[in-house]
Amino acid sequence: MDLNYSPEEEAFRDGVRAWLRENLPDDLRDKVVNYQELSKADLLRWHQILAKKGWVAPDWPIEWGGTDWTVVQRYIFEEECGAAGCPPLMSFGLRMCAPVLLRFGTPEQKQRFLPRIYHGEDFWCQGYSEPGSGSDLASLQTRAVRDGDDYVVTGQKIWTTLAHYADWIFCLVRTDPNRPKRQEGISFLLIDMRSPGISVRPITLMDGGHEVNMVFFDDVRVPLENRVHEENDGWTVAKYLLGYERMGTGRIGASKRELARLKELAAKTIKDGKSLLDDPRFRDRITRVEVELMALEITNLRYLDQLRGGRAPGAEVSLLKIKGTEIQQAISELMMQTAGPLAQLFRPVDPEVDFDNFTASLAPRYLNMRKTTIYAGSNEIQRNIIAKATLGL
Ligand SMILES: Cc1cc2nc3c(=O)[nH]c(=O)nc-3n(C[C@H](O)[C@H](O)[C@H](O)COP(=O)(O)OP(=O)(O)OC[C@H]3O[C@@H](n4cnc5c(N)ncnc54)[C@H](O)[C@@H]3O)c2cc1C
Repeated sequence: MDLNYSPEEEAFRDGVRAWLRENLPDDLRDKVVNYQELSKADLLRWHQILAKKGWVAPDWPIEWGGTDWTVVQRYIFEEECGAAGCPPLMSFGLRMCAPVLLRFGTPEQKQRFLPRIYHGEDFWCQGYSEPGSGSDLASLQTRAVRDGDDYVVTGQKIWTTLAHYADWIFCLVRTDPNRPKRQEGISFLLIDMRSPGISVRPITLMDGGHEVNMVFFDDVRVPLENRVHEENDGWTVAKYLLGYERMGTGRIGASKRELARLKELAAKTIKDGKSLLDDPRFRDRITRVEVELMALEITNLRYLDQLRGGRAPGAEVSLLKIKGTEIQQAISELMMQTAGPLAQLFRPVDPEVDFDNFTASLAPRYLNMRKTTIYAGSNEIQRNIIAKATLGL
């Protein structure tokens, strides 16, 4: 097993790093590294810069704009983007809907949607979860009934990230409620968010931010041609997409950058005449996270080596999700503890008290990061997957 990058891979990494240094706009980087909210315009701007360079969808086939990078190069690119503080790419279109269309879409569907996703012309969101159907996704109840050349869709989705920005939503709907198995009778539809009968209502998360929504469908007409794959076999599509969703949840590059910032902050935090970094108990806690992060990186490199050899990692992707998100949460917790009373939500009334936008962002950040062990399949569900598929329990 080879856990080192080859000289070619190192040269590739240096090239990516240099390009990012030149092309990542400072204002976007500042927002990312200081945990400020990114607007739709911010997300689209970065998307379009990468699209122009030809790097927005490295894992797509070349004929649709992908690169011919190896799996290791794709990983290096992602980690360099995380380390540099690039805004996230809009994964719902690029990393979820597109792979589904490439695998299951008709030629017309590919032609209609893929170029628009590539160029950031359509913003997509994911309509899987419903009230009562999250982990138990197969229990979903949103109905789609055929009527002439359309389906008529009625029901509700929930936790729909950035639905308030979206032009399109891909949805799992129940087209046959009478099948013996719940996984059967589900179909995968692409729905224009401007269709009459759709309404989006915000959900405010505990950090005060608006990133998720409820989406209601009230007799929404969706042309039959917007169904991907066969009617009642949408579960096959759903599972395929979930595999893609869980890749890339490790965020190793971003965690490394945040860990470095944590150390800087701890070194500058003086308590009883000593820096927090010199406090052996606090240092132990940082070291623990650093060791976990190194172990995650090595695990990831092991999987990459398997992929180099043509073996796809299966349920192990779940391990990267669990560890990656636990590390992200641990860093956000340590950051908040380092900043102490400065990690607060509100500007202090007393003008003598220091106020720093970065430290003030840490409490909302900490609260926001609770989501990472829930979304993309909760970490408990990931453990179940590992138990079943890897340990055979
Ligand atoms: C910030 C955020 C963004 C999201 N974005 C989207 C989105 O864009 N689109 C979308 O479709 N969904 C989205 N989701 C929904 C997400 O996929 C679900 O929240 C998740 O699947 C959990 O489902 P649930 O909320 O219904 O919780 P439940 O399934 O009710 O689970 C509640 C608790 O029980 C545990 N649990 C459930 N079943 C088991 C089991 N069998 N074994 C052990 N423990 C179990 C869970 O781990 C969890 O801790 C988002 C969620 C969040 C928090």
